[in-house]
Amino acid sequence: MSTPRRNTKPSSPGRNGTVDRRQVKKKKESTLDPRLFVKKAKPSGQAGFRTEKSFQDIKLDERLLANILSKGYQTLTTIQDQSILPLLDGRDMMAISKTGSGKTAAFLIPIIEHALKDPRNYTALVVTPTRELALQIEEEFKSLTAGLHLYSATFIGGTNINSDYKQLERKLQVIVGTPGRLLDLSDRKLLKLNQVNTLVLDEFDRMLDMGFVNDVKKLVNLIGRREQTLLFSATLEPGQKQLISSLLHNPIEVIVENAGGTNENIEQQTVKVPEGAEKIDMLVSMLKSPDMEKVILFTETKRLADRLAKKLNQAGITAGQIHGDKSQNFRVKMIDEFKKGNIRVLVATDVAARGIDVADVTHVINYQLPMTMDAYIHRIGRTGRAGKVGHAITFVN
Ligand code: ADP
Ligand code: MG
Repeated sequence: MSTPRRNTKPSSPGRNGTVDRRQVKKKKESTLDPRLFVKKAKPSGQAGFRTEKSFQDIKLDERLLANILSKGYQTLTTIQDQSILPLLDGRDMMAISKTGSGKTAAFLIPIIEHALKDPRNYTALVVTPTRELALQIEEEFKSLTAGLHLYSATFIGGTNINSDYKQLERKLQVIVGTPGRLLDLSDRKLLKLNQVNTLVLDEFDRMLDMGFVNDVKKLVNLIGRREQTLLFSATLEPGQKQLISSLLHNPIEVIVENAGGTNENIEQQTVKVPEGAEKIDMLVSMLKSPDMEKVILFTETKRLADRLAKKLNQAGITAGQIHGDKSQNFRVKMIDEFKKGNIRVLVATDVAARGIDVADVTHVINYQLPMTMDAYIHRIGRTGRAGKVGHAITFVN
């Protein structure tokens, strides 16, 4: 194996889960006001999630349409309604829409249409901040393209690079990956980035923050001229304006109403730890409630994630952990066990904060205050997805 570039690089404190080391060193505490984390849900249910427009109303390849319908998607979500047509027209785009609002299909559907028109000459590259998100996007692509003879691969750190070589032997219409591995493959002259027609940065505000921006710039330079660039996220960093406009050519900006904040389908509350009480005991008794069917528990550090998972298991609560020090096999296995319901609690650092879509997560618990409001928005956005109601509980001291 090569010396892998770090796929999930440390960045400004609190922007993701890979900053643990730094945070431990600095013992940085969140300065966010705990009152920000209390908010009644205003569940709009499916009404707020879906539009009235059905997928039959837009002219899509029949086989693609059939795949969309067989996934159970009937009507477009708001972001899909606002982005698919301009993307089919070839426009560049920056799109901001809440967590769980269907952004993946919003960029994949037009990509699939383009790929079907010219499969031999078309490649889209989707770049993500975490390996899990990359895998998940490819999964969505595969289900949308079942039987269509389009090919995809995911190139991420923590996996054997030799198996990437093999996948690169065939024409791929969609490549998903994390920046480090993509650059590595490009350095080895195996991945020809200059053939990319469409570039997508998912979770683009994260991709353009200091943890990733240098790698992203390298990728963008290697890609060079391209037909389309798409930026998608739930949050926007005001300081990135210039960088964004340098990436986009005559773009459409889609900012879905109320974007940039927390999802209204999430009931948000805080729990105060009284003087003398043990936080961990409070957590254990909280998790004994049968309502807490599927819980993601966020901590700031990898060490604490390990410790909490162990404690919970000792208390008879099935738990697993995911963070940057675990092998990729372990990370994949944990997410899988969590999806299947074999573990009830997934203890995670911010590696799991962005993009991860596990159906029916009932609760997100912040064991510690997140460092930034954006980190909070993404973390709690793992629940209340696709028009469902979710709960967020944040411990405050
Ligand atoms: P985001 O990227 O905005 O956070 P995702 O793309 O992960 O959201 O989608 C959230 C969930 O909504 C996924 O489980 C996805 O399968 C589902 N979904 C997406 N589009 C539709 C649709 N048109 N109808 C029903 N469900 C959808
Ligand atoms: Mg997403």
